[in-house]
This record gives sequence, C-alpha cells and structure tokens, in this order.
Amino acid sequence: MSIRLRLTLLYSAILLVTLAALGTFLYFSQAQLTMDSIRGDLVQQAQDYVTREHRVTRRIDPATGLAILPGRWMQTRNPDGSVNGRTPDLGDTQLPLTKAGLAAVQSGTAVTEQGNVQGVPVLVYSQPIMTENQVTRIVQVAAPIAEREQALGTLRWVLALSSILALIAAFAVGWILAGMALSPIHKITNTAQAIGAERNFSRRVEHNGPADEVGQLATTFNNMLTELESAFHQLEESLQTQRRFVADASHELRTPLTTIRGNIELLQHEPPVAAADRAEALADTKEEVDRLIRLVNQLLTLARADAGLALQPEAVPVKPVVEDVCRQIKLRAPQRPLSYQIPEDTVVLADRDAFKQVLLNLLDNGVKHTPPSAALDVTSAVVNGHVSIRIQDTGPGISPQILPHIFERFYRAQFSRSGPGTGLGLSIARELVEAQHGTLTVETKIGQGSVFTVTLPRA
Ligand code: ADP
Repeated sequence: MSIRLRLTLLYSAILLVTLAALGTFLYFSQAQLTMDSIRGDLVQQAQDYVTREHRVTRRIDPATGLAILPGRWMQTRNPDGSVNGRTPDLGDTQLPLTKAGLAAVQSGTAVTEQGNVQGVPVLVYSQPIMTENQVTRIVQVAAPIAEREQALGTLRWVLALSSILALIAAFAVGWILAGMALSPIHKITNTAQAIGAERNFSRRVEHNGPADEVGQLATTFNNMLTELESAFHQLEESLQTQRRFVADASHELRTPLTTIRGNIELLQHEPPVAAADRAEALADTKEEVDRLIRLVNQLLTLARADAGLALQPEAVPVKPVVEDVCRQIKLRAPQRPLSYQIPEDTVVLADRDAFKQVLLNLLDNGVKHTPPSAALDVTSAVVNGHVSIRIQDTGPGISPQILPHIFERFYRAQFSRSGPGTGLGLSIARELVEAQHGTLTVETKIGQGSVFTVTLPRA
C-alpha cells in the first residue's frame, strides 16, 4: 500500500473516530435533554395535582379533579393498581403501569416508563400520593413522545449523512494534499531511476517548494548528486591519467627494446659486421639496457607512490645526505662545478631514502639539462618550522612554454628528448616530497638558471 494511501486512510480513520464520538455524544445528550424536559413537565403536573395547586393548568375535570391539558393525559389509581379516575380524553384507554412500576410506586418511589396510548408512544410518570407514610393513591401523567422520537431520528440521519459526506470530502482533500506533499519524493525517485538508466550525474531534482522535510530531502539528494558527479569526474580523470600513463610507459619501454633488437640483429648478421661496428652496437645495447633499468626502477617508484607508498619519516640530518648525493653526482660528472653549504644542525622529518632520491633527481637534472660549465649549488634555510633546500643551477633556465609541464609524467622538452632522461624525474620528486608533507617548487630565469626548492617539515 502506498504511503499516500496510508496517510489518507489514517486522516480519514482519525476523522471517522472523531465524528463518531462527537455524533454519539451529541445524539445522546440531545435524547437525554428532551427526555428530561418532558419528564420535568410530567413531574410538575403530578406535583400540582398532589398539592392541588394546578398552577400550570387551565381546566380541571370536575368529576376527577384531574387537570386537562392538550397533549397530556392524567389518571389516578388505587394503591392496588386499579384505575379510579382519568381525564376524559383518555376515553376507554388506560395509562400503562408495569408490574415492576406498580411495585416501585407501592413502595413510595415515583417511576417513569415508556408505553403506548391509543397507538401513540408516550412517557408515563407515576407518583404515589402519601398520607402518614401510607400510599393512598397513585397519580399518573403521560405525554406523547412521538415528536421527540421523530426529531431524534432526523438527528440520527443528519449526523450519519453529514459524517459520511465529511469523510468523503476529507478523503479526497487528504488524497490531494498527500499527493502534493509526496510529489517531490516521486520526482526524486524518477530522477534516481533516470540516473541509474542513463548514468547522467548532472541531473537534479527540481524542487521549488518550501524548505520543509521533503524540501530538505530534495536539497540533500541534489547535494549528494553534486558530490557523486565530482567523484565520478575525478574517477574518470584519474582513469584517463592512468590510461595515458600506461600508454606513455609502453611507448617509453618500446623505444629502447626496439633499439636493442636492432643491435642484436646486427650482431647476428652473416657475414659478421666489422669489429668496430660490433663494439658500437654492444655499447649502444648496454646504454639502452641501462636506460631500461632506470625506467623500470622509476616506474616502480611511481607505482609505489601511487599505491600509497609506506614512507617512514624520521629525523634526517640534511648535510650527510647532500654530501652523499653530491659524491654520486661528482662520479658521474667530475668536471661539473658543484658546491653546497648546509649547516650541521639542519634536520628534516623525512624518509631517508625518498629524501635522497629527490635530491638525486634534482641534481641529476641540473647535470643533464645545463651545459657542463654551469655551476650547481645546494643551500638550506629554516623558515616557519620547515626546512627549505634550494638546488640552484646557472643553466639556461626553463622557458615559460614548458615550465607548466615539467612536473608531468613522461614530459620532456623537445630538446631533452634525445638525452638520457625519461621525463619521470621531476614527477617522482614531487610525489615523494608531497608524500612526506612537503612541497617542491621551481623558480627560473631565462639565461640565468633555475632554482628547485624542496620544503620539508623540520624535525
Ligand atoms: P627528465 O629529466 O628525465 O627529462 P624530468 O621530469 O626530470 O625528466 O624533467 C622534465 C623536463 O624538465 C626535462 O626534460 C627538462 O626539459 C626540464 N628540466 C628539468 N630540470 C631542469 C633544469 N635544471 N634546467 C632546465 N630544464 C630542466
């Protein structure tokens, strides 16, 4: 059963109970009131007879002394119940008195009973007349109650009919109101179904109503869709990046492999090629294998970084690491002017291996991408609880066209493509630094050189 129908039935049931209670109360209080009023008149008339006042009467029957009132009958009985006098309009009929009524009256208690006189329903009041604590006579007064019965019957019909009409109207209005209140929920359901079918997270629920509970639901649903949409886009973007990365990696791996294969074919050549060519092919192969090893190592580092690489930050004194890295660079480029000034007490909070790798990549770039005469210098400074390590070169600088891309994976400037680089050095360096809650930035001036700054938390 739908919520709409349930709500409507609930309203209607509440209204039904209320109407029934109200109608019953109204009906019975009306019945009681009219009965009390008729009975009051009868009691008054009987009392008048007993006291012989006849205040409310106009005519007294001279034979019986009973009051004659239009629409009323009077009658007297002996204590044993036998009739001994009645108003002439009763004719041959008697006012009824049941056995139980007679017994009650005989014991001195007045009774009110319903009965029939001349085919008309009546209310009969019977009262004993007492003399010295003895019932000497019984006086009975009756009045027809047909009108009252009719009025109560009409009241019953009016109440029943108006209740039914009110119920039908309440059901209809309740149905419409519940429909209006629930319509945003239908819209939400339809939107959710459409999103499921079309995978279109840009859809929104249109709700122009007040910010009530349903309005809040619509707003919350729309906010959730906004979040989902951005998450979906992020996911798509990262999937795109992943695909590009795999394509780039395959491409980078294929180039050295193709060269190696070419060299092997050359070495297998019959008749064998000249010794000098063989030596060159072997040297070339070795170079390409080195490049492959470097590339695979870098890819491994990147894959680990992507998988949330478990770095172990510790207090690492900067100077020994810089010394170590500079020593390695010196081995590769003995002629290169290389200097560093790091205070002994400069200590960073970093993963030792990752930190070393970052410095190595940056200094290696300094060697690869600047002329052999360009100087490299490493310095450090402590700023706001962080340590900044500057790797400065006096090379040609980085042009504004390529500057925005140098941290992208596999990005190599046109002129660097033929070199030994893979285009992964800077992206690896930045990922490692960021994984250690640091930053890697670059400043460059064409013709004057570049400064790469690694900032890490101070230990
Ligand atoms: P790779 O060095 O393997 O080519 P990187 O990611 O380390 O890849 O560097 C990306 C590009 O940034 C390089 O191809 C180069 O053009 C430029 N670059 C990096 N460091 C320097 C530098 N010190 N001076 C000039 N250009 C640089």
